[in-house]
Amino acid sequence: MRIPNLFGVACVLATVPLAALRAQSGAAGVADSSPFRPLTLPAPNDVRTGSGRPGAHYWQQRASYRLNATLDPDKNEVRGRGAIHYVNRSPDALPYLWLFVEQNLCEPASITNLLNQPPLVFLGSTFDFSCQGFAGGGTLESMKIRGAEVKRTRYGTTLRVDLARPLAPGDSLDLEMGWHFNVPPQGGGRMGHDGPLYEIAQWYPRMVVYDDVRGWNHEPYIGAGEFYLEYGSFDVSLTVPAGYLVAATGELANPLQVLTAPQRARLALARRSDTAVAIVTAAEAGQAARTRPVTTGTMTWHFTAKNVRDFAFAAGPNFRWDASDYDGILIETFYRPKATGWVEANRMSREAIKYFSEQWYRYPYSHATTIEGPIEGMEYPMLTFVPASPSREELQWVVAHEFGHEWFPMIVGSNERLYPWMDEGFNTFIDLANAAKYFKGTAYGDSIEVHPLHLYADHAVPGNEQPLITKPTEVRDLFWGGYQKPALMMQTLRCEVLGPERFDAAFREYIRAWAFKHPTPADFFRMMRDASGMELDWFWRGWVFTTARLDQAIDSVATRRDGGTTIYLSNRGTMVLPAELAITFADGRITTVKLPVEMWNLGSSFAYRLPGTMHVTAVTLDPRKALPDINRANNSWPR
Ligand SMILES: [Zn+2]
Repeated sequence: MRIPNLFGVACVLATVPLAALRAQSGAAGVADSSPFRPLTLPAPNDVRTGSGRPGAHYWQQRASYRLNATLDPDKNEVRGRGAIHYVNRSPDALPYLWLFVEQNLCEPASITNLLNQPPLVFLGSTFDFSCQGFAGGGTLESMKIRGAEVKRTRYGTTLRVDLARPLAPGDSLDLEMGWHFNVPPQGGGRMGHDGPLYEIAQWYPRMVVYDDVRGWNHEPYIGAGEFYLEYGSFDVSLTVPAGYLVAATGELANPLQVLTAPQRARLALARRSDTAVAIVTAAEAGQAARTRPVTTGTMTWHFTAKNVRDFAFAAGPNFRWDASDYDGILIETFYRPKATGWVEANRMSREAIKYFSEQWYRYPYSHATTIEGPIEGMEYPMLTFVPASPSREELQWVVAHEFGHEWFPMIVGSNERLYPWMDEGFNTFIDLANAAKYFKGTAYGDSIEVHPLHLYADHAVPGNEQPLITKPTEVRDLFWGGYQKPALMMQTLRCEVLGPERFDAAFREYIRAWAFKHPTPADFFRMMRDASGMELDWFWRGWVFTTARLDQAIDSVATRRDGGTTIYLSNRGTMVLPAELAITFADGRITTVKLPVEMWNLGSSFAYRLPGTMHVTAVTLDPRKALPDINRANNSWPR
């Protein structure tokens, strides 16, 4: 749909001197400065509607992969051949395609290696996006269409393929390719290996998302900002040493070849068990003769997956392997015998998948698998990488957090290279409630949901804090801006603005409407307004687009001529939120009043006329200390 061209009108106005305009109309030239003014969002259309839903003409591209790869631990190398089937469902003819070739993150002259930035460390979270000195890089041996090499140009981790003739709307093509790379010990915190244990991801040439909003979303991979990819199906054959076990995205297609008879029998048992069944026991781990049908040479594992946006795998010779069932979903944990705390990881995994499924959206895949290894925490469809954490609490947090990413962004496919708050933030929000449930009755469990609010004073530092809308590669405090602040935002919206029932229904509708699709921030804002029935532009402005700060105050309390009490309140900060008052009467009784955000409709002062004539002795604003009020000294009367 064409958007009406307003340029002509603007040019005519611009020829009139501004002072003359102001003289003609007092309103002209005066911007609406109300905190309730509408956000400026892209115009809705038949692809993305005003309700925030995908429209009647919503489209997204489809990229499906057939890959054959060999992991050679002796050479520390992955070699692959395969093809991408790319379907152009857009209304546009595409003269070129963009792909990600992300092993070049670690090439000697990469942005990441040149800048060599130290890890960001916040509390227990480490963000090491470097290659830790490893200088490798990927080699694309060939890339062909119908047998002919394509013209291709690489810029770091992105690759442009110029087509001989544009790919017409509705047409598809097959891109055949061969490539190899040396596996870094630490590939930007996303993949790597620890001796013979390999966690392989961001490992094959992958199609960049082409969409209606921005065209090609080819933000380069430089470490921060994980990945943003199209949905499609995968058919992957992985050849590894015969003594290795493999776990991967997708369903194992050849269990008869690659698993022993006892392992298949134990898996059948696990599929009927609420608690972990050992598929490979501690005593068996590392002994190929007891865990593998063949112990010499190589073996090929075959996996297929539908409707996923990526494919990752792990392989190693020394795994314990536990499995259980939740509602037809196989919950699997693979870990080295030295990771003793991981005996509980299967239960932690199962509880997380169960909670997120029941609370938000049913887990749509056949298995949910976690690998213990060197990576600090990373998520791929059906498969996550988690380290051997020092404590139960930390292990549960990382296991559940990486699985939370199955919802954001594996199911709800937002753009991680641009909007960390929509995946890390939404995920942290759902994780907090899950951790509180898992550790209920302990000091940790009963306090964890308040952590983001308690972090506010240390992280929301004027001049340093950045709006949530900032790109992840430009965020100085990713722990706050990517994770904790957006979690606090969602908690505040749920508990202090909409209420749990109203929020949950709207957020579930957002997840349902955008499952396996690509929502933008505007789609999310519109969906939450449409489904909750509440205008929320003021809320998103305060939390997402600005670093507005809240300072609600009691200015004074006065007795009216009719004997009643008026409480004079002001909003002295730049953020608006509803207010809550605890009012103490002369007889010692305390009553709580919740005032809706509309109290600030007419400006930053509000006179609350308390019903009745009972004498008031004290008033406290935000008595539960539930809001991030930056100055509590003005929250009580008498001062
Ligand atoms: Zn995360």
